[in-house]
Amino acid sequence: MASAPGRVNLIGEHTDYNGGFVLPCAIDRRIAAAVGTGEGVLYSADFEETRQIDEEDSSWADYPRGIVWAMGEAGHEIGTFRAAFAGDVPLGSGLSSSAAIEAATALALDAFYGLGIRHTDLAVICQRAENDYVGVGSGIMDQYASLLCEAGAALLVDCRSLEAKSVPLDLQAAGLSLVVCDTRIERGLADTGYNDRRATCERAASMLGVEELRDATEEDLGLLSGAELKRARHVVSENARVLEAVEALESRDFDEFGRLMYASHASLRNNYEVSTPELDTFVEAAKGHGARGARLTGAGFGGCAIALVPEGETAELRNACEQAFEGRGFEEPAFYEFVPAPGAEVATGIEE
Ligand code: ADP
Ligand code: MG
Repeated sequence: MASAPGRVNLIGEHTDYNGGFVLPCAIDRRIAAAVGTGEGVLYSADFEETRQIDEEDSSWADYPRGIVWAMGEAGHEIGTFRAAFAGDVPLGSGLSSSAAIEAATALALDAFYGLGIRHTDLAVICQRAENDYVGVGSGIMDQYASLLCEAGAALLVDCRSLEAKSVPLDLQAAGLSLVVCDTRIERGLADTGYNDRRATCERAASMLGVEELRDATEEDLGLLSGAELKRARHVVSENARVLEAVEALESRDFDEFGRLMYASHASLRNNYEVSTPELDTFVEAAKGHGARGARLTGAGFGGCAIALVPEGETAELRNACEQAFEGRGFEEPAFYEFVPAPGAEVATGIEE
């Protein structure tokens, strides 16, 4: 049996597909996968239903099926087994319950069959399952975060080299809470908006004669104009902010870290143009209620925003935000508070 967490990205947005840096942390909501000998049955406690491994039905079961397929593609033939799943990662909120079920499945199978696959390689298998079996295009961040994060830490990921390093994030010692606001906005424009931003970044990179915008500098920006300039300005500055944010965390400087979060949000709103009135309203409410930093997280066009708030002041922020949302006729938001949690783990010491 293994379990794996969801994640939030603290800073580094729309940098992954430009070969840049991201800084997620795992959250204390997890999905567990139990694997045993049996004949190809998958059971979900949350959906209260049973599915067959050897079918394809566009259900939750495609995630564990995808893992079996991707493990086979990576040269690890998986025999017959049965498995059961249960968890509490919010579904479809942008907190990556999909990576959590993938990582839990992959690690449980790895343990069951004694494969000894490294966590970095399991993450690549999970990404392959999501991209090529389930058919959702995504970078490596979610799976890396779910498999490699440590308790009380964030994870700096270089999306080009796939190197990752743990960065201290002891929020308790700093007297801070990590608040997530789910705006519950249907991300209708998300796919077209996302594809458009990706294409513009590729154009900007080729105009600058670099492989990816990761390789562009502040000075290079002078050669661009229009949408290419705006998008590239975000990517170049955001990559720099991630590295500055890592330095800030390493010296426990949460004022500086928070400043970088606000700067990231401003750039996502003004340069990358992926914020919404709801996300902006949350960030403004956070600013007005003592948050050290706040920003949208995820691709934007809806979804979630985060704030670092002094412990004990989160209720005030929630109330203020709820009122502001109601006043503007927005959907009622959902709030979560998370502690930076450990990545995927094999459960030990389970009683028969
Ligand atoms: P997100 O990753 O942002 O939560 P996705 O749409 O990528 O949203 O993934 C959500 C899907 O992952 C669900 O529709 C379901 O198929 C699967 N999933 C998530 N949590 C569970 C769970 N506890 N049990 C079974 N399947 C789950
Ligand atoms: Mg997902």
